[in-house]
Amino acid sequence: MKTKVGRMPCETCSTEVVVKKNEHGTLSYRCDECDAAPYARVGTGQHDKWSAKLGTATQPAPQEDPKPAPKTGGHPLFG
Ligand SMILES: [Zn+2]
Repeated sequence: MKTKVGRMPCETCSTEVVVKKNEHGTLSYRCDECDAAPYARVGTGQHDKWSAKLGTATQPAPQEDPKPAPKTGGHPLFG
């Protein structure tokens, strides 16, 4: 199963293409303009290059876990 990762210019003709990722993390796209259908396996320079173009890091970004703000209300008798 492939999931859409993002868009980047085709490496051959610079037409914008949709890049997909399969279950192994391999990135690939199919260019309608020039019929190029390259792919980039994880751990290769190609993969790193595509990831940079797509603006997605190989590692998922750490998610911020917003904690509820502590209540700063004063004492009921002195507040
Ligand atoms: Zn192309």
